[in-house]
Amino acid sequence: MSADKPGAAGSAPEHAGSVLQRKASLVDMLDPLSFGDVVESLGELFRVGIRVLDERGRTLADAKGGNGDFCGFVNTTAQGRARCTALVARLNEGPLTPTQGAQVLPGTSPLGGELLGQPCFTGLRYVVMPVQWEGDFLGRVVFGPFAPEELTDVPASLAELEGLDLDRARELLAHMGRQSEHRVAKMLAHVAQVLAALLAAGQKSYLTGQLHLEAMLETQRDLEAQNAQLMRLNQRLKEADRIKSSFLGTVSHELRTPLSSIIGYSEMLAEGLVGGLNPEQMQFVRTIIEKGNTLLKLISSILDMSQIEAGKVRLAFEWVDVQELVESSLTSVMPQAQRKGLTVKVQLPEAAQPRVVADREKLSQVVVNLLANAVKFTPGGGHVEVRLSAHGQQKDLGVEGYRIEVEDTGVGIPLDQRERIFQSFYQVDDSPTREYGGAGLGLAIVKSYVEGHGGQVSVTSEVGQGSCFRVVLPKEPPLSGQGPAYIPPPIDTDPERF
Ligand code: ADP
Repeated sequence: MSADKPGAAGSAPEHAGSVLQRKASLVDMLDPLSFGDVVESLGELFRVGIRVLDERGRTLADAKGGNGDFCGFVNTTAQGRARCTALVARLNEGPLTPTQGAQVLPGTSPLGGELLGQPCFTGLRYVVMPVQWEGDFLGRVVFGPFAPEELTDVPASLAELEGLDLDRARELLAHMGRQSEHRVAKMLAHVAQVLAALLAAGQKSYLTGQLHLEAMLETQRDLEAQNAQLMRLNQRLKEADRIKSSFLGTVSHELRTPLSSIIGYSEMLAEGLVGGLNPEQMQFVRTIIEKGNTLLKLISSILDMSQIEAGKVRLAFEWVDVQELVESSLTSVMPQAQRKGLTVKVQLPEAAQPRVVADREKLSQVVVNLLANAVKFTPGGGHVEVRLSAHGQQKDLGVEGYRIEVEDTGVGIPLDQRERIFQSFYQVDDSPTREYGGAGLGLAIVKSYVEGHGGQVSVTSEVGQGSCFRVVLPKEPPLSGQGPAYIPPPIDTDPERF
């Protein structure tokens, strides 16, 4: 395991390159707490200082040996302190080569490299053992200071320190145990064995952890890439949707003007303004007016939807009498209901209710669209009922408001379609041979307008039995005051259609 770039100790793995190619540091592989305990107990056992440093010279574990009194006494002199500091710096960070008085010791170092013996000016000695692992230099163990067997008296280098009480120094030195070369070698081998065992275990768990982390990072990178791809697609879809809306808006606008003329002239013909018509001609003209009106409604819906999708619709709030609004909406579907032989009922609150804040035209369109659907999807002989509730606290909205329900005994809506029918251009039956006309826009418009008022629309239904559309609205739309409110464009256009 070798690399050009050392891993930053303790930092998260970098993005590039696998953990298997990166060099781990001592900090990565050793658990500092338990490793510190082990080194401390070895220091106590041998009564010799043991310091473990990483490749940058940072101390990872430090056990003081039994030399404290002697070294502490020498360090009471300024010269002693200065020389001690210089020596410790050399031991911790200096080159692992026989310079500045260090000598290569005979035999091989248990953890690779060469053992360096480093004499101290006090007569004590150190041994520096490099730590190599799978060919990488990871740090060093500084073993000492200890008093070598041959040390009998203070050396000249200590005697020359200014202000040192030599007798006291001799006394303290005499109390230090002597270490033979053989014993030092055995102690070092022992330290090396313990360190090697800890490194082997630490490396395994480090690699496992890092591989796990890498797998997670890889997954995260994949997710980020997919996310970016989705965002791009979303952007394109939005753009395509905008173009579609703008195209539909333009075409509808262009169709509406000539169509209005066709209906207008047909009405003039039917009223006999340019002469009487025979019954057959009259029937043809009435058919032109009826189909023309259906087409006009469709074009108006497309225009409304394209305006909503372009984010151009604003609600103009004013005080509205909802009872009156419901009743007048009903009149617009009565002719069609009567033609089909439907019973239409309206249920209003017993007491007159105060006015509410709403956009009269849009709210009326909501009720008309729901009623028109109820009439359209209910076979002859069926029932349609519109109910308006009294004002009261609305659980769904958490504010005071009212409900409008439009119920029919029509064909019903299958459960799996009940969310989708509110998407624009979605119809339960969209086959070319479908029985009912329409473009699948009415409910999408209802939903946008209701939500623009701060309300909600939902449906319950049973196939073959009928449906009930429920609109819950606040008495006063939130934050709207009584000025115009913006309707945010919907985001749930039926994706299968466009
Ligand atoms: P359109 O009525 O023009 O098709 P809408 O958006 O108003 O479009 O309705 C979407 C679809 O929801 C309809 O095509 C129909 O399948 C279903 N739907 C709406 N209202 C009813 C209802 N009262 N009963 C049964 N199905 C309904």
